[in-house]
Amino acid sequence: MSIFCPFCGEELVDNAKFCKNCGKNVESYGNMANDTSNTNSFNPPVVEKSHTLATVLGFIFSILIPLIGIIIGIYLYTRKDSPKAKRYGLLVIVLGVVVWIISFFLGLLIQ
Ligand SMILES: [Zn+2]
Repeated sequence: MSIFCPFCGEELVDNAKFCKNCGKNVESYGNMANDTSNTNSFNPPVVEKSHTLATVLGFIFSILIPLIGIIIGIYLYTRKDSPKAKRYGLLVIVLGVVVWIISFFLGLLIQ
């Protein structure tokens, strides 16, 4: 029975530990695929993926939203025609900076 490299498809010699074409470890891959009882080994990548998603969402909420707020605030603040817009812009800038600082320290605490 021929065994083929799961990475590049090269035909492997019997009991080969490494693929002679791409050099990847095919022995550990074969053990992992054959061991049906060890389905838990497939969970970590999912956890890692959701963790990455949480990190991305955290990044968006903690950095991008305050940053957008600050940019909008600066835009409103620099408008000379409307004192109301200027006050509102200053408020948005202050809120954005406060949220940014709080998110930053919360991020440090979580890590
Ligand atoms: Zn290969």
